[in-house]
Order: sequence, then C-alpha cells, then structure tokens
Amino acid sequence: MSRVWNFSAGPAALPLAVLERAQREMLDWNGSGASVMEQSHRGKRFIAMAAQAEADLRELMGIPADYAVLFLQGGATQHFAQIPMNLAGAGDSADYVVSGHWSAKAASEAGSYVRVNVAASSEADGYLRLPPLDSWRLDPHAAYVHYTPNETIHGVEFHAIPDVGGTVPLVADLSSNILSEPLDVSRFGLIYAGAQKNIGPSGLVVLIIRRDLLQRAGRPMARIFRYAEHAAADSMLNTPNTWGWYVAGLTFQWLKAQGGLGTMAERNRLKAELLYQAIDGSGGYYRNPIEPSARSRMNVRFTLHDGALDAAFLQESEAAGLLALKGHKALGGMRASLYNAVPPEAVQALVAFMRDFAQRHG
Ligand SMILES: *Cc1c(COP(=O)(O)O)cnc(C)c1O
Repeated sequence: MSRVWNFSAGPAALPLAVLERAQREMLDWNGSGASVMEQSHRGKRFIAMAAQAEADLRELMGIPADYAVLFLQGGATQHFAQIPMNLAGAGDSADYVVSGHWSAKAASEAGSYVRVNVAASSEADGYLRLPPLDSWRLDPHAAYVHYTPNETIHGVEFHAIPDVGGTVPLVADLSSNILSEPLDVSRFGLIYAGAQKNIGPSGLVVLIIRRDLLQRAGRPMARIFRYAEHAAADSMLNTPNTWGWYVAGLTFQWLKAQGGLGTMAERNRLKAELLYQAIDGSGGYYRNPIEPSARSRMNVRFTLHDGALDAAFLQESEAAGLLALKGHKALGGMRASLYNAVPPEAVQALVAFMRDFAQRHG
C-alpha cells in the first residue's frame, strides 16, 4: 500500500485509523449485515450512532447544554445564506468582518437576506494581516457579527476570539479550524463548519447554535431552511448525510483517543512552527507573506524565490509522495494544509523535501 502525505486544503486528509475502521465496517456495519449507507436513518442502530457522535462532539468541544448541535447539508456556502435567513429579520443589519476570500463570500451571499455592514476589512492590505480589532466599526444594534477565524485560502488566522462586547451574537465560520484546538463555545451565538477539512467527508455541515437564537427566524421560509425545525427533529427533518455523519463520529472517537483538543492544539502548533521555521530560515528561498502574528496554523502559504521553479517543485514533491501542495489558483504559489489528520511525520517529510529541493535547484 502506498499512502501519500496529503496536504490538500479540502476535501482533505482523514485520519488513517478512521479510514481503516470505515473500511473494516464497510460491508457489515455494527452487526447489521449491511453498510451504514444502506440502512434507514430512522433505525435503532443509526440513531444510536448519531447520538453518540453528538455526545462525543459535545464532550470534545465542551459544548454547553443550552446549545443545539446540528448535522446538516449544503456546505458552508449554503449557510452563508441560511444564517441571515434564520438570525435576521426584515430591515435588520448584520456586521461582517472581511479578512479573506471566505469571509468576503459570506458577506456577499448574506446580502440577499440582511443589510450587510462591513465592520472591518483587510482587503486593502491584500489580506496579509487581520483587520485590527480597534478599527472594527461594530453596530450595537446588529443582528449578529460574522467572522471567519481561519481563512483557508489566504492563510490568516485569528488566534483569539474577538471581544465584540454587548449582547450581539458572534457567528463564526470554523470550516477549516474547528477541532484544531480547544474553543470556548459559550463566547459564540453560532458556529458552523463544512466537514471536509477537519471533520470528515464533504456534504456535511456541523452547526452549533445557542438555543434562544432558534426562535429568531421570523420571515416566511420553507421548513427545510429553518434551524429550529432541524433542531426539533434531531437533524432528521429529512434524510441526513448518513455516511458523513458516521465518518464524523469516527473522527470524534479518534480525537478522543488522541487525548482531545488540547493534545491536537499542541501537535498543530508544533507542525506549523516546524514549517514556518523552514520557510523563514531558508534565506529567502521560500517566503510566507503573512504578518507573523496572523499566520494560520492550518493553511501555510509559501512562494519560491523564483516562480519559474514552481512546476519542478510540484512535480518533484508529488514524486516524493507529497500531495496537493499547489496554492489556490487565485493566489498562485504553494499551500500546505496541516489539519488534524496530517501527522507530524508528513510535515517533517515536507520540510526535508524543501531543504533538499533548495539545495538541488540552488
Ligand atoms: C472550504 C470553506 C468554505 C466552503 O465550504 P463548502 O462546503 O464548499 O461550501 C467556506 N468557508 C471556509 C472557511 C472554508 O474553508
């Protein structure tokens, strides 16, 4: 078997132990004689599995009891629209902090359902740093404040939860850094994450919402768009993504077996540090353009000193078993995504390859 070291930004690497367990259970899940994909979500086995996955996630993240945990579909992108539908009424405005590609998209998609106030933006800085907190023009009457703690494409990350004061709920798109470190969920009104970076397969969204906010959705809309309906139906208003939910549950168990989110945080910190040190210590051969205090632990961008070497770098890295280092097409260069499922050995292999490449291509 030849597994590569996988630095894909998403859909991304899954823990090997999770894949192996899913493989073992593929044909006969839980003594049922059928795969998990081939049975009713209303069956006893599936309901027990789904409840266990939620319980494990609640334990891992320390989710308070007054929060609902939903397992939904539509990707993070659908929820860019569904969040204002559910949290804002007619005539309301919402504050958006724009710090990269995904928060810009969230703000633009929300515009169909709420008056968007861009409270802060680092676009003029090329998204190379975060908008300084003291520059945020927050509206105390906003329906909510939305931000993106980790910008997957631009490679910037907030390393602390911003204090937005008052009673305006904080909403966070945690698609690419959920479960990468402990998080004080009680600071948020709503957290959401597409699964395909740090949780499981694509097609699943984990959404955590303070229960009082479920009552906000005043406007007319079909039940399928209403978070309160999903919460009341335990995320089984219609057929959920059963496979995604199952694999997410396996990932949660794997995270618990690793020692939980504190252990993952330390591992992720060391992985990122190793790669940034290799870049910064390369004498300018490799460069990361992000202001150091805003560098992402999850998505590390870098360029080579001479763009003419990019093709050779990608070809040789792939031949060396290092997959998906090509940067996002909008930015060029390289990007290594270092999610939970990427082990320290993968980063060590990458750093060794980068040193060797620099020597050979002087
Ligand atoms: C990948 C990503 C998205 C888009 O997710 P989809 O599931 O494709 O809609 C949104 N936000 C962030 C931060 C992401 O990393």
